Amino acid sequence: MSELAYPYEAPASQALFDRAAAVTPGGVNSPVRAFRAVGGTPRFMVSGTGPYLTDADGREYVDLVCSWGPMILGHSHPEVIAAVQDAVARGTSFGTPGEGEVALAEEIVARVEPVEQVRLVSSGTEATMSAIRLARGFTQRSKVIKFAGCYHGHVDSLLAAAGSGVATFALPDTPGVTGAQAGDTIVLPYNDLDAVREAFRAHPGEIACLITEASPGNMGVVPPADGFNQGLKDLCAENGALYISDEVMTGFRTSRAGWFGIDGVVPDLMTFGKVMGGGFPAAAFGGRADVMAHLAPAGPVYQAGTLSGNPVATAAGLAQLRLLDDAAYGKVNAVSREIQGLVTDALTKEGVAHRLQTASNMFSVFFTDRPVRNYEDAKAQESFRFTAFFHSLLANGVYLPPSSFESWFVSTAHDERAVQRIADALPAAARAAA
Ligand code: PLP
Repeated sequence: MSELAYPYEAPASQALFDRAAAVTPGGVNSPVRAFRAVGGTPRFMVSGTGPYLTDADGREYVDLVCSWGPMILGHSHPEVIAAVQDAVARGTSFGTPGEGEVALAEEIVARVEPVEQVRLVSSGTEATMSAIRLARGFTQRSKVIKFAGCYHGHVDSLLAAAGSGVATFALPDTPGVTGAQAGDTIVLPYNDLDAVREAFRAHPGEIACLITEASPGNMGVVPPADGFNQGLKDLCAENGALYISDEVMTGFRTSRAGWFGIDGVVPDLMTFGKVMGGGFPAAAFGGRADVMAHLAPAGPVYQAGTLSGNPVATAAGLAQLRLLDDAAYGKVNAVSREIQGLVTDALTKEGVAHRLQTASNMFSVFFTDRPVRNYEDAKAQESFRFTAFFHSLLANGVYLPPSSFESWFVSTAHDERAVQRIADALPAAARAAA
């Protein structure tokens, strides 16, 4: 294992981080990348191949972040790269309709039964923001229910108790969101149907929609309790509110049809991102045709995007989705289970109290001996143990999400060699966490 060990210092990454900090707030373009929760130098990556990333210091890591979910086929998959090269050679953006976006929309509609119509956008944030606007326009109501610990992107009205990034920085809310913007948001504890029932009772005829992560991964992995999603759907239906299932993280990752393919609960609207872009900025929202018909230019609710349905992004997404057949999901699920087993064994051997929670092939480790059913439980974990665990793995060439409030992700490219490297690195990490 000694040949895998890297020093804690990363001089080339540090030099880039210093340069970045001079021109970019905090030196990063998305907060969690700054390693604030775990400390140390964020690794600046220069290339990715299969399950590996290589940083500016020339060190190779087994990647358990997969760009926060999208890279389900691993990095630089030859067929995705070929599709991108083919698209780029024909031009990068036309600002007109194109066949690629039609094909991607058809693929989504074919995979996810509740999606009768879909609109493409460029980020998960845009998808959830637009779905909420549409729900408000459709119902002519203003209030939105969300759950503490669920993250739906940096939409103003949804940045209340928003999990991962926000939890990591211990900000209950953010300056810049006005009282009016947050005032129509009702934040409830996750996995608590009585709280939802009570909210509908307290605000009759006022709630436009409820948005929930189909299976949350932004407070670490906290799956819905049995019957929870169906209960949400039923309460929404009884009260004339739309049920929005946010599948930006779970969509096309947890199964062919995302989390819907696992629990079968039919939402009114759904949001997608990450995997459907194949590593490019592509996202979507869709659902009931009668609701989607309210969207411009068919209907009155405005929504638009200069780069929406971009031909390069849609080519990448389509190539990736077409490769994601049952065999591919079987492979990701199997390697995920194998890694979960290794992590559990290593921590158990050292007597480290932990809970490994899963949602299909998504998983994360909480350093606590109690089940984690909601955000309060997630915050009760001993995050300092995660910090030690993280840095030990990093120094042995395994790249975890730099926060204990995140899901870990694997890909079809995580082969025997990659798994062996994780197995070799785990004993020292478990000792560090003890
Ligand atoms: N919804 C969920 C469930 C997410 O996990 C994320 C991002 O992590 C988003 C929405 C926002 O997506 P994006 O970062 O593409 O704006």
